Amino acid sequence: MREPDPRRRIPRTDDLLADPRLSEMGSGLGRDGILSAVRGAQERARAGLIAPEKVLQDAVASLPTTSSVRPVLNATGVVVHTNLGRAPLSHKAIAGIVRSAGYSDLEYDVHTGRRGPRGAAVLAALCDRLPEGHAALVVNNGAAALLLAVTGLIASGSDREVVVSRGELVEIGDGFRLPDLMTSTGVRLREVGTTNRTSLADYAAAVGPHTSAIVKVHPSNFRVEGFTGGVGVPDLATLGVPVVVDIGSGLLAPDPALPDEPDATTALREGAALVTASGDKLLGGPQAGLLLGDAELVQRLRRHPLARALRVDKLTLAALEATLRGGVAPVTAYRTADPDVLRTRAAALAEQVGGRVRAHDGVVGGGGAPGVVLPGWAVALPEPLATVLRTGTPSVVGRVESGELLLDLRCVPPESDADLATAVLAAVRSLQV
Ligand SMILES: *Cc1c(COP(=O)(O)O)cnc(C)c1O
Repeated sequence: MREPDPRRRIPRTDDLLADPRLSEMGSGLGRDGILSAVRGAQERARAGLIAPEKVLQDAVASLPTTSSVRPVLNATGVVVHTNLGRAPLSHKAIAGIVRSAGYSDLEYDVHTGRRGPRGAAVLAALCDRLPEGHAALVVNNGAAALLLAVTGLIASGSDREVVVSRGELVEIGDGFRLPDLMTSTGVRLREVGTTNRTSLADYAAAVGPHTSAIVKVHPSNFRVEGFTGGVGVPDLATLGVPVVVDIGSGLLAPDPALPDEPDATTALREGAALVTASGDKLLGGPQAGLLLGDAELVQRLRRHPLARALRVDKLTLAALEATLRGGVAPVTAYRTADPDVLRTRAAALAEQVGGRVRAHDGVVGGGGAPGVVLPGWAVALPEPLATVLRTGTPSVVGRVESGELLLDLRCVPPESDADLATAVLAAVRSLQV
């Protein structure tokens, strides 16, 4: 028996126009604006480009947007690109955001009909990845996590001093400096050691009745080489005061490919009282700050008034839970992409648009691992294309080097390769006229 023609399942124009999802999303656009989105979607279904069942969704997606955000294809080879929104979210994280965008059981127990704990599932997902007996708290970003850790510890400590190595007084970007962040809490910084070397004796001499904590900051965005030395967490933990470790990147467990990146599990096992980290660097989730550590201490921070001011919204919690439970995050897939596959994709792009395939190293990015190179490939094109591509839709951002535009496919989702080729061809054509 022959299958009926699938085109007969394409919804009728009147039915589509009557659907509230379309009229709500299209409100303010006028009937003609909505109608043209509907016709376009029906056309694509007739051409077999989308399934008939997807016509409504496609029409909604092609309505002119009310957001000024411009999506970017990141062809720089920089995985955690702070200027481009740091970690791109996984499809599961995006679905989690959509699911929790309306009313949800965020702080509600459907069984009892009473208030329930906020974000319990995310905290459980974090604790599952930590050594036994530790607790977690999620705040707005890594800076907020450090702020709350220091504030909470000085409130409970004997005096208002934290000890930190001179080699770890880090500027994180855009003029923001962690020592300024810490002193903004009212704490005194007791700096020890030198830029390149700090010893356990330096710390021991500084720790006293005024000390609330030792803060150990991972210098995540630079490297000091040569005559250097620092003190590990196991030694710091012997000095009798809580040790706070700002690991920065958000690795929860060691990663052999990133031997110099600290991780939360190791720091906690070694005796850190608290670990702070970002959610949108190597963890690959939404902007968030993680506070992980001693259950009693974390509970105290949760009750601190500042915790309420720094708490995250339901969308962040949903995206973070999906990131933690959802398998390999895009940043991890990009960071570990197979160079041979990247080369094949680059060759296919060059085949379509011209240009030369050449070796090109990617980097982890401002998020960490400054010494790590990620061998890969790029397509080299004439530099004047850079501006045209950057200002197009989608915007394509590559790397300009020695008079050439390099497009590195490492951080371009493979399903966007065709869009990238289309954008480059359009840019080439626009320069030819
Ligand atoms: C990135 C970073 C921060 C700041 O984290 P945000 O999430 O950007 O606020 C703090 N400390 C270290 C070591 C970092 O690498």
